[in-house]
Amino acid sequence: MADFKGMTSKIWKLTYDRFDPEKENLRETLCTLGNGYLGTRGAVPETAATRVHYPGTYIAGVYNAMPTDIAGRTIINEDFVNCPNWLMLNYRIDDGPWFNRLKVRILSWKMELNMLKGILSRRLRWQDDQGRITLVENHRLVSMADPHLCALRCTITPENYSGRITVRSGIDGLILNRGVERYKQLISKHLEPSQHGSFGDDGVFLQMQTIQSKIQITEAQRTLIYSGLQRIKPDIRVILHGRERIIQEFQIEVAQGQKYSVEKLVGIYTSRDHGVADNCTLAQEKVASVESFESRYKPHKAKWKALWKRFDVEVEGDAFTQQILRLHTFHLLQSASTYNEDIDAGLPARGLHGEAYRGHIFWDQLYSFPFYNLRAPEITRALLMYRYRRLNAAKEYARQHGYRGAMYPWQSASTGEETTQVIHLNPMSGTWGPDYSSLQRHISIAVAYNIWTYYLISGDRAFMDRYGAEVMFEIALFFSSIAELNDQDGRYHINGVMGPDEFHEKYPGANKGGINDNVYTNVMAVWVIEKALGLLNILTSEDLAALMSKTGITDADITLWRDIIKRMNVPMDKDGLMHQFEGYMDLKELDWDDYRSRYDNIHRVDRILKAEGLSPDSYKVAKQADTLLLFYVLNKDEMKRILTNLGYPYPKGMLRRNYDYYIQRTSHGSTLSLVVHAYLAHLLGDEEQFMKFFHLTLESDVYDIQGGTTQEGIHVGVMGGSINLLFQCLAGLQILEDRIVLNPFFPAEWRGLHFHLRYKDIWFDITIVKNEVCILAEPLHEISLQPSRPIPIGVKNKPYALTPGKLLRVRF
Ligand code: BGC
Repeated sequence: MADFKGMTSKIWKLTYDRFDPEKENLRETLCTLGNGYLGTRGAVPETAATRVHYPGTYIAGVYNAMPTDIAGRTIINEDFVNCPNWLMLNYRIDDGPWFNRLKVRILSWKMELNMLKGILSRRLRWQDDQGRITLVENHRLVSMADPHLCALRCTITPENYSGRITVRSGIDGLILNRGVERYKQLISKHLEPSQHGSFGDDGVFLQMQTIQSKIQITEAQRTLIYSGLQRIKPDIRVILHGRERIIQEFQIEVAQGQKYSVEKLVGIYTSRDHGVADNCTLAQEKVASVESFESRYKPHKAKWKALWKRFDVEVEGDAFTQQILRLHTFHLLQSASTYNEDIDAGLPARGLHGEAYRGHIFWDQLYSFPFYNLRAPEITRALLMYRYRRLNAAKEYARQHGYRGAMYPWQSASTGEETTQVIHLNPMSGTWGPDYSSLQRHISIAVAYNIWTYYLISGDRAFMDRYGAEVMFEIALFFSSIAELNDQDGRYHINGVMGPDEFHEKYPGANKGGINDNVYTNVMAVWVIEKALGLLNILTSEDLAALMSKTGITDADITLWRDIIKRMNVPMDKDGLMHQFEGYMDLKELDWDDYRSRYDNIHRVDRILKAEGLSPDSYKVAKQADTLLLFYVLNKDEMKRILTNLGYPYPKGMLRRNYDYYIQRTSHGSTLSLVVHAYLAHLLGDEEQFMKFFHLTLESDVYDIQGGTTQEGIHVGVMGGSINLLFQCLAGLQILEDRIVLNPFFPAEWRGLHFHLRYKDIWFDITIVKNEVCILAEPLHEISLQPSRPIPIGVKNKPYALTPGKLLRVRF
């Protein structure tokens, strides 16, 4: 097997050597620790929320809806609840003030995220006004081995003095949702106190409850104190601030040069957890049984090691790509994990890392699910179950709008009802305006597409039979009921929707939202219906009869589906230029150079136009790939087949024509756009453009290229998308119904690529160097079950057969 284990494969850290108040919020997001069940921002323990710091702990699925009177109306806002801050820990020397970075001299400050071990460390040396120097070393973890356990160890060394140090270690429930500037006018208090108390000789707990959704959240902590390695037991005083903040305070007599450690062990449960009658007792029991920070660090590290074995992608020769791919992998694994199998929660567009988009679930999963599909499809399955459980809500939503089938809401949180805001704030003008984004019916396409790709990669027939097919049928039914046949042109039309490009909310001057025949929605509606028709042949006749009876789908519906896939309207020119929607070509051109010269950043040119009293509706401006997205989600054969069946041409050079046209009119106001453009540039053989967009996908969160969005949470779409680009473009991975194919392409400085992937229960261990691919395949199940069945694979477009356990080496 080719071995290139060199420098770059050792890059596992994200390090900040200096404190920078302007960047702290961004770093807190990037240093978030989580395990799929919960996420805690990388905020410092010494302070509550300030302009610079924002502690946030979010538990998957914990939402609360509150009404706010705003712009003359009452709006209901369902928020991702910022749960009690378990990090809280501060100290003071003798009778001096509590540590406050603004009141002392910071001698050195270093923060380090170790992604291999899942640990966040901070090393801080500070000097007070009496010249006393203190070294504070923190390590924290959110356990990957036990989703309900977190721990923080703080080691204090008085470098040049002896005296008394007082420590306060607490749980802060006096917390608000104030992480996003734009939402500050909305009600931000979501928690009310429920219970608190002490347990054992070193534990306290705080139970809070969400005000409307009535979810109890208990955080229980034990504080262990050490002098050197020796456990000591100073008296611990319990202090209460109202009923919402509980603190353990104790004093340690310290000697110069000695190390004193405070270990804070925290257990977290909620009333949403399965099989939990009393979350309060359970949280206490969880930490009562923990011996020390170290004892929990071991299994946590081991779990991360096991995850990295499957999920790591080693890139030799490109240190930046290596580091960021690991950062993206790390955060995706923290946003959703196998623990999701035991929780009812979706994957928030901004991870468990912040409050942007209120932790809601959008369509971004279309970009991030392949990441899980290819290594741990059980995570995708768990996240798809979130949708399945909300199928009735989606059917009800369709019914309310006069449609049949299932219409999933654009934004979804706890119940599966629509949670998109009805008005939104333009931060540039400070005004509130109508928000039509809930008209993005393509969200249901993403749900169906995700089910299909999950099935294609995992081969999980049981999921398809029991859940997936039903959702796909209901979505197909919805699209067949929203499509209207126009007798004049003999074509089906889908009117009054929004495409993925959210700049076009309505026709210029119209007083109702929506545009007609968004080409992405129309073509993909046909794709969904085609797949549903295909399922008629896949399911057993008994399963099919049961599903037909349950969904109420009739032979007439099937006949209608067969008609729609032949007569859906696709607005396009004869030479293949697709129209983003009906009437798009009549819109005005924007003077892009003028806007670029007047504004530093025109990603959100929609806000600029609105602040200037104009409307993006009137211009050919797109926030992100919309028409072009068709070429991302469908392969050439599928596109050709769909268009041909509909009676439209698929002329040579169609992708090039559309790419050249739309790229000039797109501001990339969503990072999702970068992923699509990178992929299409690769398809077009434009490797320079590909690398440009690929690098932007890598830079987007670590450098916060949109200027201020990452501090409110990561972007799971672009993180997943960047890893897909690596698979699809650099490894050249294609997933077919019966095999995978690899057609690698390497930038000049790359020396090698190594990764694992799982396709239909076979693990592939793949190493690619410049002109050689080495592949080892291991079926997941006992080899004896499938003795010597050869595994088909394609490399550089040639077929090969792999023998399980035997290395295949292909030179090219
Ligand atoms: C994008 C949407 C995306 C949402 C959540 C918006 O800015 O336009 O496509 O679903 O962010 O990430």
